[in-house]
Amino acid sequence: MRAVVYRGVNDLRLETVPVPRIGAHELLVKVAVCGVCPTDIKKIQYGTVPPPRVFGHETAGAIVKIGAGIPSPVTRHLSLKVGDRVALHHHVPCLDCHFCRHHAFAQCAAYKRTGITAGFEPAGGGYAEYVRVMPFVLPGVVKIPAKNSFEEGAMLEPVNTILKAVRRLNLLPGDRALVAGQGPVGLMFTKILQLARIRVLATDLLESRLRLARKFGAKWISLAHRMGEGGRRPGEGLFPLDAAIIAVPSDDAVQQALRLVRGGGRVLLFAHTKRSEVGSQKSEVGNPFSLSAAGGGEGRGEVATFSLHPSSFILDLASICLDEKDLIGSYSSDFTLQAEVARLVFSRRLDVRPLITHRFPLAQTAAAVALAARPTEDSLKIIVAP
Ligand SMILES: [Zn+2]
Ligand SMILES: [Zn+2]
Repeated sequence: MRAVVYRGVNDLRLETVPVPRIGAHELLVKVAVCGVCPTDIKKIQYGTVPPPRVFGHETAGAIVKIGAGIPSPVTRHLSLKVGDRVALHHHVPCLDCHFCRHHAFAQCAAYKRTGITAGFEPAGGGYAEYVRVMPFVLPGVVKIPAKNSFEEGAMLEPVNTILKAVRRLNLLPGDRALVAGQGPVGLMFTKILQLARIRVLATDLLESRLRLARKFGAKWISLAHRMGEGGRRPGEGLFPLDAAIIAVPSDDAVQQALRLVRGGGRVLLFAHTKRSEVGSQKSEVGNPFSLSAAGGGEGRGEVATFSLHPSSFILDLASICLDEKDLIGSYSSDFTLQAEVARLVFSRRLDVRPLITHRFPLAQTAAAVALAARPTEDSLKIIVAP
């Protein structure tokens, strides 16, 4: 079969690889579509994981083979059969460990194991003609209703990550929220918040995206760089916000949001998924701060310097303590929301179809990734369709 293999930084190659062999209780799925996700772009552009791998994890397709063996409790429950059209989730939490009990599913060891592959180290495999679905991610298989498309199925995973983040904000109907960035992710935030009767201020650098934000339910729109205009400090004079969602990897947007939310409000980071230099050293030195002992002698112990984050980000800690503003993050999906997400997308209360603007054949996956990484006026969600 054909697969797009990641061979190194920005090096994606169309290759011929064996169709994955499946074992007992496993599925072989013929990929119909796979969404291009920012987290894969990051891995491809920065080489954060070693090659070779086949990426792509927002996958929908049809079951072409089911591994032998007595049906497991899971497959029996799902009553999967050859020919079923399905949406896949490449990781599933154990629901039982310390992290799962704290609802921090993305930190669960079982969740960190990717259970879908087109060969090599499992990495999603959606940029290939067929994928092997392992037993431990079968609870993540969702059947696509006849009236819905494979593309809608492929959107379940990204929609889940957004609904999870919205839940973490604990907003009340009538609250006001800023959504910074109106790409496909920001637009889905805007719509999901509007469905929960939250009033949204949408910002972006592109006028075209702000017009779309209106269609997705934004009550107010503003060009991001215009927010502080009119002789005021950025954000001053704007009504108070109860929350801000930062759907762009901009530190300035975070700083501005922390000023804009009122006391007791929350700022949620959704796009800051690339570790800083300091952050990536953490695992090596075990401490995000660089400590040097005064006087040079080993074990003398006095701390002389702290070298902090190299960016210009300044956080007034009193805004957290005194104003009780929470700075929180949200990453990846929440398995317990899966059924709700499927209802939201398949009922089209959240209609994801207008978000999909570009479809690329498998051979042009590199071009699909490049476009997703550098969106244009008219590009939103990019899909690869083998
Ligand atoms: Zn994704
Ligand atoms: Zn767990």
